[in-house]
Amino acid sequence: MTHFAYRAGVLHAEDIPVPEIAGTVGTPFYCYSTAALERQFRAFAEAMPKGALIAYAVKANGNLAVIRTLARLGAGADVVSIGELKRALAAGIPASKIVFSGVGKTRPEMAYALDAGLHQFNVEGEGELEALNEVALSKNAVAPVALRVNPDVDAKTHAKISTGKAENKFGIPWTKARAVYARAKSMPGIKIVGVDVHIGSQVTDLEPFRAAFVRVGELVRLLRADGHNIRRIDLGGGLGVPYRDGEILPPPKDYGAMAHQAVGDLDVELIAEPGRFMTASAGILVTQVLYVKESESKRFAVLDAGMNDLIRPALYEAWHDIVTVQEPGPGAARFAYDVVGPVCESTDMFARDRELPKLAPGDLVAILTVGAYGAVLASSYNARPLAPEILVKGGDFAVVRPRPTIEAMMAEERTPAWLKT
Ligand SMILES: *Cc1c(COP(=O)(O)O)cnc(C)c1O
Repeated sequence: MTHFAYRAGVLHAEDIPVPEIAGTVGTPFYCYSTAALERQFRAFAEAMPKGALIAYAVKANGNLAVIRTLARLGAGADVVSIGELKRALAAGIPASKIVFSGVGKTRPEMAYALDAGLHQFNVEGEGELEALNEVALSKNAVAPVALRVNPDVDAKTHAKISTGKAENKFGIPWTKARAVYARAKSMPGIKIVGVDVHIGSQVTDLEPFRAAFVRVGELVRLLRADGHNIRRIDLGGGLGVPYRDGEILPPPKDYGAMAHQAVGDLDVELIAEPGRFMTASAGILVTQVLYVKESESKRFAVLDAGMNDLIRPALYEAWHDIVTVQEPGPGAARFAYDVVGPVCESTDMFARDRELPKLAPGDLVAILTVGAYGAVLASSYNARPLAPEILVKGGDFAVVRPRPTIEAMMAEERTPAWLKT
């Protein structure tokens, strides 16, 4: 966590002491590091074969300032809705670098994306292919398409984020791929440009990727023999990141070398769709200890952040390291805490029996590696305002999404006429 480190005993985000931000915006808040985003993007881009399109998966963190930071480095975008598409465009990513993925694109979304002139549609099924063909024909347009194939490999990740097994809803079954490509070729509104695959998220071993990419390479050869002009392979996203201190994961350079080895001889444009890898380690959630409760067998630390702010532990049993903002002294005693939020649900727990330095009300703590699938999955459950998002760059910080007021949240609703009297 080099861009979130202790200096003179206090956690800093780059050159800013975290308590300074807390004093300005209050807690809880998400805090992102520009330098960490840049480090992640560059590490990935430099590892991939030259000319590859790095299409950042916006769903990991859709904050406009985050997308803009990556756009300036040359990132494209992988989007899964018209909302993400508009965000990517608004953040300065040219349409020619945007790919449109997702298993449930609507016709209006297809129409908008066609008008924008996207790089590629990643199509996940025959029904969607027919719909896209019709939408394109109605506009006298031709949609550039890669079919997402399901390679039936086990990504060996959490079941809720695995997508490349035959039983998952994603993609076209491996055994049907050639037939669907043949159908696509007969559709005048469709232009086949490539093959797409995405096997899951937080993949921590390169072997499932290798198995999938090798299968895709075999398919490309078959499709070319069938007369298709396959010019691109979209490798999807999914490269995992370490969530625990000391955990070692495959570095992007090994991933890039493996991709090159698997499909490098096919003379295709490569597309990668990393999401988590770009943003996870670039974000922390800063929160305050409200109360410490001790029962006979347990010590609870009740934070002012809850599962509505960060749902990954509740949703995926995810582990996040937690640190105190004040650096513990050398050899400071540690105690096991259940670290919980204020939301009225038993699943509102960030960590069970976590060894932490002694906590007291008012202490600031940081939950680490939350820059991906953190703020984007937040809700206002329990009428809690969304936590604001802060972007740090060197000695500067900016509120890139403010905390809404309760009044503004209520003002979004309407009272029906019959309840007004
Ligand atoms: C979620 C997703 C990604 C990004 O996955 P990460 O694990 O965040 O890298 C890329 N492509 C598709 C199609 C996705 O659904």
